[in-house]
Amino acid sequence: MPVNIAMDGPVGAGKSTIADEVAKRLGILHLDTGAMYRALGVAALDRGLDVNDEEAVTNLCQTIHMDVTHEQGGQHTLVDGEDLTSRLRTEQASMAASKVATYPGVRAEMVRSQQRLARSHAMLVDGRDIGTRVLPKATLKIFITASPEVRAKRRFLQLKESGKLGDTTFEQVLSDLLARDDQDMHRETDPLRRAEDAVLVDTSEMDFEASVEAILALAKERMA
Ligand code: C5P
Repeated sequence: MPVNIAMDGPVGAGKSTIADEVAKRLGILHLDTGAMYRALGVAALDRGLDVNDEEAVTNLCQTIHMDVTHEQGGQHTLVDGEDLTSRLRTEQASMAASKVATYPGVRAEMVRSQQRLARSHAMLVDGRDIGTRVLPKATLKIFITASPEVRAKRRFLQLKESGKLGDTTFEQVLSDLLARDDQDMHRETDPLRRAEDAVLVDTSEMDFEASVEAILALAKERMA
């Protein structure tokens, strides 16, 4: 079994960017599982489906072909050959992802493909249920978090910098984030929670480099 690092945590904890950098410095791949749920959400909307329709979305998940590739610029997520990567970071995609991720049939399918990917390469896998469900035997488990205000502020700046903010206010970003936290932590199947053996990393008071260093130190210790 290749080295696997599981990284879970709520939205806006900096997981994805930190995971990207840690994986790069360790020379392993970074699998962003949130992108897979986002891609399913976007694919459902593209096909005119109601994301609240569990049966239709589960059916779609079981019939589409989702590919995850790793190129120099990072992960690309494709549905039936169409690269959806550039469309996955909108608020609409976030909300759709959080909804489709509540369906057990969808989760079963996603977990299976994530386990398959992690078996084939050394990887840092980030998500919500990686340490608890996808990779219960991971080499290292990290639960990364920060206060809701800090997370919302980061998300707000990220949207602003990427030109995707539109009319969205900070209060709206904070309330969307709390709604997603609530949905992620209270769904029946594989809710977001810290695995008992996960190391807690709170980045509220840490900058990016300090967070990366803290996780690298844990990874190097565990991989030695
Ligand atoms: O991490 P990201 O914000 O991109 O994830 C989008 C949504 O996908 C989350 O709000 C969560 O509902 C869902 N998700 C999940 N399990 C994962 C990864 C993401 O339920 N392993």
